[in-house]
Amino acid sequence: SAPAGGGGKVEKIFVSVRLRPLSEKEVAANDSCDWECINDTTIIFRNSLPERSMIPTAYTFDRVFRSDCTTKQVYEEGAKEIALSVVSGINSTIFAYGQTSSGKTYTMTGITEYTAADIYEYIHKHEERAFVLKFSAIEIYNEAVKDLLSTDSGHLRLLDDPEKGTVIEKLTEETLKDWNHLKALISVCEAQRKIGETSLNETSSRSHQILRLTIESSAQEFLGKDNSSTLVASVNFVDLAGSERASQALSAGARLKEGCHINRSLLTLGTVIRKLSKGRNGHVPYRDSKLTRILQPSLGGNARTAIICTMSPAISHIEQSKNTLLFASCAK
Ligand code: ADP
Ligand code: MG
Repeated sequence: SAPAGGGGKVEKIFVSVRLRPLSEKEVAANDSCDWECINDTTIIFRNSLPERSMIPTAYTFDRVFRSDCTTKQVYEEGAKEIALSVVSGINSTIFAYGQTSSGKTYTMTGITEYTAADIYEYIHKHEERAFVLKFSAIEIYNEAVKDLLSTDSGHLRLLDDPEKGTVIEKLTEETLKDWNHLKALISVCEAQRKIGETSLNETSSRSHQILRLTIESSAQEFLGKDNSSTLVASVNFVDLAGSERASQALSAGARLKEGCHINRSLLTLGTVIRKLSKGRNGHVPYRDSKLTRILQPSLGGNARTAIICTMSPAISHIEQSKNTLLFASCAK
């Protein structure tokens, strides 16, 4: 089948890496490691352990962020342009990928708020256009989709709409009154995620969260009259399940069916991202997982994508950090 977005050119995925600082615990345990961002695009691992080779391994991306960079900097240089393309009617997705405790939620929470603030600023500066902002939020756990804005814990079905593509049945979509309304809804999502965490062990490391802002805009005089002049686009903020799940599922092979099932979305995302980064030839298996089905209109085609790979500087996490950089290398 044809890739999403029709005949337009495929946008390159913007791939960045963010190193977090050592936690107090890691400092206390002397669990540090020789990762160093030697410039804005290259991170190296010095391999200074005596039994290993002394030749540093270098990895290059669109941008690397040292551990003393703020989330504001990560937003400005790693996500802003792509996230704000939504005001021009272009769909986009910002992912946080990395092992549990590497800083995905820390990074994505800030980026979501900075984007929303910039969208509101844009709206105030463009009074010649009328804007309607909508917000929805889901969690995907074990290939089941849950509405984070509803207290109903039932699973939502995905339906194929001939015009809109994959739609999530009965998903709550709130029309935003203002910035404070959005902040309150994000808090509801956080609370809902916490509830899940106490009933199911480690939910947040096994589940994917997607917060979606949809913007409809049109020239003031056409508002509500002429649909053809209305621009509609969404920006998706995706806080992925811990990437250690993907490597575990891969190494367990077919033996651990449940493990594979839990991680189907993460594994399929990896395949989709690799295919997209290699150009548009061939079949892209969007339909193989809930995550990629839901995100299809905002991945590939004319849509714009940024991936921020978060990693821990600790030596105890070295294997996962290398896996993360491998994923990042495949995406660029
Ligand atoms: P994940 O969502 O990947 O499991 P979190 O975002 O919850 O990881 O981060 C784990 C811990 O590290 C949290 O306490 C968080 O506040 C802290 N942390 C993560 N990234 C940073 C950073 N860049 N600077 C300071 N603290 C961070
Ligand atoms: Mg998290």
